[in-house]
Amino acid sequence: MTQADQHLFDRAVEQMEQRWPDAPEAVAAAAYLDDGSVLTGVSLDNFNAAMNLCAETGPICEAYSRGRRIVASICVSREAGRDGFTVLSPCGACQERLAIWGPAVEVGVYDPSSPSYWSSRPLLEVNPYYWAAAFAEGDVWPSTAQHAS
Ligand SMILES: [Zn+2]
Repeated sequence: MTQADQHLFDRAVEQMEQRWPDAPEAVAAAAYLDDGSVLTGVSLDNFNAAMNLCAETGPICEAYSRGRRIVASICVSREAGRDGFTVLSPCGACQERLAIWGPAVEVGVYDPSSPSYWSSRPLLEVNPYYWAAAFAEGDVWPSTAQHAS
């Protein structure tokens, strides 16, 4: 089981620092694919905030375009007035997007009980009452094929 780990965290931070080295606030994400490679991305910010996209969106679309599976994902933010970086749990929309690849996808979550303030959890644990489970055809989660249909 591939988890969201320190390497993935570091790749997200690298992406953030490459794109926005001096911004007081920034967000970036990194994801492991099923072949072990890593995709990274940043949030898309727009004057019209309704058009913004989460940092996970780029890696999710790229993985889907390549026909690969995301097996783990992490989103990291830099907040003004706060030292270091904060792992942001995936928002509901990103949980929904990652659900394509099943309940075992590991995601970095904000976790104050951890010394690092984050841990890796499977989507099923993050979203135990996933709405589409009602369409899982005897499984705990709809298949990737069902998501794509
Ligand atoms: Zn999101």
